[in-house]
Amino acid sequence: MMRFVLLVLLSCALLLGARDTRAAALSVVTTTPDLAAVASAIGGDRVQVRSLSAPSEDPHWVDPKPSLALALSNADLLVAIGAELEAGWLPTLQVGSRNAKIQKGSRGYLECAELVALLEVPPGKVDRSQGDLHASGNPHYMLDPRAIERVAVGLGKRLAELDPSGRAVYLERTKQLVARLRAARARWEERLAPLRGQPVITYHRSLVYLADWLGLVIVDRLEPKPGVAPSPSHVAAVIRRAQERKVRLLVQERHHPTNTAELVAKKTGAKLVRIPSAVRFPSQDIVAFLDEIVNALAGPR
Ligand SMILES: [Zn+2]
Repeated sequence: MMRFVLLVLLSCALLLGARDTRAAALSVVTTTPDLAAVASAIGGDRVQVRSLSAPSEDPHWVDPKPSLALALSNADLLVAIGAELEAGWLPTLQVGSRNAKIQKGSRGYLECAELVALLEVPPGKVDRSQGDLHASGNPHYMLDPRAIERVAVGLGKRLAELDPSGRAVYLERTKQLVARLRAARARWEERLAPLRGQPVITYHRSLVYLADWLGLVIVDRLEPKPGVAPSPSHVAAVIRRAQERKVRLLVQERHHPTNTAELVAKKTGAKLVRIPSAVRFPSQDIVAFLDEIVNALAGPR
């Protein structure tokens, strides 16, 4: 009996040891938890994934701490949203990482904005001194499952290119993620069909892809421009517009302050819905995240 117990313990130790030494084929660093969730769904245990920003952070404003540059120093692939979402902090970290593999133009750098059809791309040059954070088009496409699908396909191909021995795994897992997203999309669209055509007000210009997907009509935003805090005169104008357009719904992500939205909700009788800002990676996956948003928008059954 004793010998048997020892044998079991020994095999467990060997198994654990084997797991510890089995290093992932690729180290992937993403700028947002949403991208981390997609990379992890496709890479499985062939990749080690880390997000530079936390789900509670505004992805426009991340503190480029030395620890983040260190995280990039050994990365094989850096996955970014692009469209200048990370313009204020990522270039500093790339330089600080001293890692040639993940610099712009290298195969170890993937800017997912190139994979999706961007909305709100300005026709001319935008004066950034006026505080507009979306000077290259709207970067908040990860709230649309159709865009996530395109990101997944592009990311799967890039992982396969960087780690050819895992090619079959990456392509199969991409296929599985796309199938899950499509099945869930049918369910989400059915559940939110009553919101189609509804006028809504948002805080930041961050829900345009969500609105485009679900047929919501965004009539105004609490920020006069992306990244510019609401002023009293702008808020007064928003309240007038909300009353004219009979807005019943205010939607904003949890990382934005709520005082202005609460005031507008009170003045207009509209309901304020706060949705999660990003996937709680690694405990949550991208489908569960969108489920949470759909549930918040649908309200109590
Ligand atoms: Zn933005």
